[in-house]
Amino acid sequence: MRARLEALGWDTDLVVEAGGAPPEPAGDEVVVEVEACGVCGRDCIDRAGRFGFVQVPVTPGHEAVGRVVAVGPEVTDWSVGQRVATMHRDGCGACEACLAGEASLCGSGAAVLGLLHDGGYANWLAAPQGCFYAVPEGLDPALAAVLNCTLGTAWRGLTRAGTRAGSRVLVTGSNGGVGLAAVSIARSLGATTLAVVRSTEHVDAVQRVGADEVLVDDGSEFHKRLPGGPVDVAIDCVGAPTLNAALRSLVVGGRLVAVGNITGERIQLNIGYVITFGLQIIGSSGATRADMAALLAHHAENPVDVPIHDRMPLAEADRAQRLVAAGGLEGRIVLIP
Ligand SMILES: [Zn+2]
Ligand SMILES: [Zn+2]
Repeated sequence: MRARLEALGWDTDLVVEAGGAPPEPAGDEVVVEVEACGVCGRDCIDRAGRFGFVQVPVTPGHEAVGRVVAVGPEVTDWSVGQRVATMHRDGCGACEACLAGEASLCGSGAAVLGLLHDGGYANWLAAPQGCFYAVPEGLDPALAAVLNCTLGTAWRGLTRAGTRAGSRVLVTGSNGGVGLAAVSIARSLGATTLAVVRSTEHVDAVQRVGADEVLVDDGSEFHKRLPGGPVDVAIDCVGAPTLNAALRSLVVGGRLVAVGNITGERIQLNIGYVITFGLQIIGSSGATRADMAALLAHHAENPVDVPIHDRMPLAEADRAQRLVAAGGLEGRIVLIP
């Protein structure tokens, strides 16, 4: 079984196709029997056609976990029986970024799952070996599925900004998947966390993952009333509505990591403010294999979690995407083939 996005937009449902034997892997392809696949906010952006390079028809899903059942003749990284999960895409394996282990900065990875390459809303996923990282046995399939895109994104952002014990970390959009993960990981790294949410209904959720302070704000004023003063690191999961206030929340020399762009709007930036206060603005996406290995090692000592809203059968992929698109969920939906 697999779900197919045949036309962009929301006027037609995803088409669920029954049956199908595992595909034969070619070249450096790995075939995985999928245990679970997350339904991400990005899947809805993909479906709406906001990435101009999307090629339909395509099987959605960049958050799959499963077991390797076949490998192509050029595969060197994996063998049959190993448990793996997906990153957003592969890397070319040969450029400066790939050779440095920074495959998410590769300019020529072609297998973007769910956009240019069939993804994980399926029983079987065939993709280049560079799309996968190793997952330990025993990790809950739902958590393993969403690990890279939520906790991995948060981990990479926090570590690239140098978060350590004693850091003060602000997270905007902290009730979303990456936001909850960022609060949870920052706390487990020994940081003090200030969580910004748009509405009081989200306060409980961010307190449950350990936020030290919660600010309810429309995104424009929170920097004027930060408990304990400015922060070392801001993780901005929202974008235009919050980025300027997040910048103004930083200490001199502070780091802002942009990981979310929910509205897609352009913003005005006071460059003089950035220069004068020596601020760094870091864009971050796509946790690498090394990021995931470090995160999994951290998780083994300091368990971090992502709330799961629901586990739904793959046949309900269309309904699952519509629930995610409607927003307001305090946790992720995971499809089970
Ligand atoms: Zn995702
Ligand atoms: Zn590369």
